[in-house]
Amino acid sequence: MQGWCPGALRPMLSGDGLVVRVRLRGGRLPKAVALRLADLSRAFGNGLIDLSARGNVQLRGVTEAGHAGLIAGLSELGLIDADSRLEAMRNIQVSPFWDAGDGHQEIAAELAARLVEFPELPGKFGYAVDIGAVPVLRDAAADVRIERGATGLVVRAEGMETGAAVTVGSAVDAVLELVRWFVGAGGVTGGRGRMTALVRRGAVPPARFMAVPMLSAPDFVARPGLVAQGSLVGFEFGQMRAETLAKLAGIADMRVTSWRMLLLEGAALPEVAGVITRADDPALRVVACTGAPACVQGLAPVRDLGRALAAHVPEGAVLHLSGCAKGCAHPAKAAVTLTATPAGFDLIRNGTAADAALAHVTADELLARPALLTETFNAP
Ligand code: SF4
Repeated sequence: MQGWCPGALRPMLSGDGLVVRVRLRGGRLPKAVALRLADLSRAFGNGLIDLSARGNVQLRGVTEAGHAGLIAGLSELGLIDADSRLEAMRNIQVSPFWDAGDGHQEIAAELAARLVEFPELPGKFGYAVDIGAVPVLRDAAADVRIERGATGLVVRAEGMETGAAVTVGSAVDAVLELVRWFVGAGGVTGGRGRMTALVRRGAVPPARFMAVPMLSAPDFVARPGLVAQGSLVGFEFGQMRAETLAKLAGIADMRVTSWRMLLLEGAALPEVAGVITRADDPALRVVACTGAPACVQGLAPVRDLGRALAAHVPEGAVLHLSGCAKGCAHPAKAAVTLTATPAGFDLIRNGTAADAALAHVTADELLARPALLTETFNAP
């Protein structure tokens, strides 16, 4: 399978060892699972745990020798798939704002169980189960969405503004129909392909997927704070230490999100070191990848620079710092992006890490004159 996404069975080698990505089921992280993940991270990795933008948990710094032991531990938690193909296909994001019996978990579980019926798909092909009154995952990467339409649930191809009417019980049948159409219509080329690219090429899904208009909704911005289901908390660069996860596991069952945050079920905002609970915390205004040296492709370290610049990013804005043009931490556009180059950083406005630069700067110049950054944000 080309265009593959790393997982637990097929980890990715980074500068600090293997990165083992764990796909949780239904985005659920019960206390016991979180505690065990923290133990496994310390036993087989370097004790650093990332939250990914696709609602996964990544254990970093795993050695080749420790990988088998880690997989055995994850297997006991029911988090390992029968094979790497099925694991790669289990890209299912679930809105964390679900309530028992409202269909989110039911659809996600049926979808995961029936992936064996699905045809071969590109590694990044994924699904969003987002059936609350207002969609919250539209910024999250997905190829097929299960959402709420004007009259009930719909299954919709990413890139289309209409979907097919479904129920909780029939949603996965419609997802499979849409996936088969995607493959049959030539959506996969050389093992790669995304739904939006196929739709942009003018391919039209079966008629029933054109029946129900999608709901218009404001962009959802996740912020730490209290929510109906508990409390939402963040982490600098979406990363925490195993000790932090273990402490949170002592408080509540949790849910992972697509915003590198955790939702603590039914809990007040915790007071735990390393956990961001304030919506206006400047640390949340900077998105930065691992960068050099922990990522072998990184052309410069980025996180220390991000920490130093965070206070100069206006509230509500995002600064994306990327160790190379791949832009792993934030594939979408950001108000301002700094992409490392062999000579410093490309300064990019309203673009991705790979877009054309407005100017070239060095880290020293930015640290000496951080107003340069603020001016870039505020430029008309
Ligand atoms: S953007 Fe580049 S440097 Fe950063 S994690 Fe991805 S590959 Fe590594």
